[in-house]
Amino acid sequence: MFFQNTSDWLEFDKNHLWHPYTSMTEPLPTYPVESAHGVKLKLADGRELIDGMSSWWAAIHGYNHPVLNAAVQHQLQLMSHIMFGGLTHLPAVTLAKKLIDMAAEPLQHVFLADSGSVAVEVAIKMAIQYWYAQGKVQKQKLLTVRNGYHGDTLGGMSVCDPVNGMHKMFQGVLPEHFFVDAPTCSIDGSNNINAVEEQLKLHQHEIAAIIIEPLVQGAGGMRFYCIEYLQQLRVLCDEYDVLLILDEIATGFGRTGTLFAYEQADIVPDILCLGKALTGGYMTLAATMTTAKVVQGISADGVGVLMHGPTFMANPLACQVANASIDLLLASPWEKMIKKIEAQLQDELSICQELSIVEEVRIKGAIGVVELKESVDMKAMQASFVKEGVWIRPFNKLVYIMPPYIIQANDLTTLTGAMYKVLKRLAA
Ligand SMILES: *Cc1c(COP(=O)(O)O)cnc(C)c1O
Repeated sequence: MFFQNTSDWLEFDKNHLWHPYTSMTEPLPTYPVESAHGVKLKLADGRELIDGMSSWWAAIHGYNHPVLNAAVQHQLQLMSHIMFGGLTHLPAVTLAKKLIDMAAEPLQHVFLADSGSVAVEVAIKMAIQYWYAQGKVQKQKLLTVRNGYHGDTLGGMSVCDPVNGMHKMFQGVLPEHFFVDAPTCSIDGSNNINAVEEQLKLHQHEIAAIIIEPLVQGAGGMRFYCIEYLQQLRVLCDEYDVLLILDEIATGFGRTGTLFAYEQADIVPDILCLGKALTGGYMTLAATMTTAKVVQGISADGVGVLMHGPTFMANPLACQVANASIDLLLASPWEKMIKKIEAQLQDELSICQELSIVEEVRIKGAIGVVELKESVDMKAMQASFVKEGVWIRPFNKLVYIMPPYIIQANDLTTLTGAMYKVLKRLAA
């Protein structure tokens, strides 16, 4: 045994392990989890927390699900991993078939990547290679909106919000792309898409693709925008000869009320990125899907190999649990479940609007966001939520939940109740 007790290994964690976006010299407190089951995280001291985060959009079926456990165990007996170069396996092929069946008909080709960020890198490479193979070598830039989030690798970061994403620190290292303001939509249906057209007019010859999170901007601000904006984006991409990359890593697999958010706008992207909930939160896996047009384009110069191939590409364990997770989702009344969560969030979170510290409450599908007027003290608020028996992780001005789809009404009430209680105390 390395460690005598929990506080012993927590201390080692604090001194030696980086957590997401933390300082090693001034670490934030972390809570030790012993196990997780259904919608509950069990802490080392025996306390149970109702999970409002789905481990960052991923654990849509909850934790320790017998069907997903069985899928991993079954695959483990056969093989946990083999290289994908020159070899193939049924879990990957089955997953590709399922994704192709679920996604819009033109999306017929699948690249299985090992994380969301890598799926975005692959999408960017696809777009650049598409134009390169056709002799349009200047088309290497991307156009995107502010407040976006597309991952932490350098390519993904380069299209994240320049301020949130700390582009200044990485100046000269990050490729520089074109940005317009985040989508704003008013009730009368008008929006600020004009800014996109202006950029396309000026820089069309340099732009390979537009990349955007459809309808919901996740980690870059939990902002929602309208379907008209997406529809107009699709039209502009066609008009100005630019590919459309939709990053559904957060929104995919039902979260916004449809399997994929783009369905609500009735459009089809040229390239689609998926991740997070793909394996029901069990393992790291992501996918980049594209159309025959893009595939043909990449190979137009006769060379045409897509320049990517990670060591753990299409990991069989991850593919098999993804297959089981998709089957579970599609066999469940997921649309009803999301609608029910949405209605309950409307009922129970709207009251937060009355608090003086609250800027806006917004709800879409199984996502509930309370935006405050000022940034919160994350450490203190985190501790308050744990005291209330819930796991909610605020950041900046945002206190938000996206619970597992299987959450029961009483547990969801505990989550929303804790949000109101903690915010009310803060407002007092
Ligand atoms: C989380 C996320 C990513 C990055 O995925 P990782 O698996 O963390 O690399 C990219 N895009 C969006 C929209 C995301 O929400």
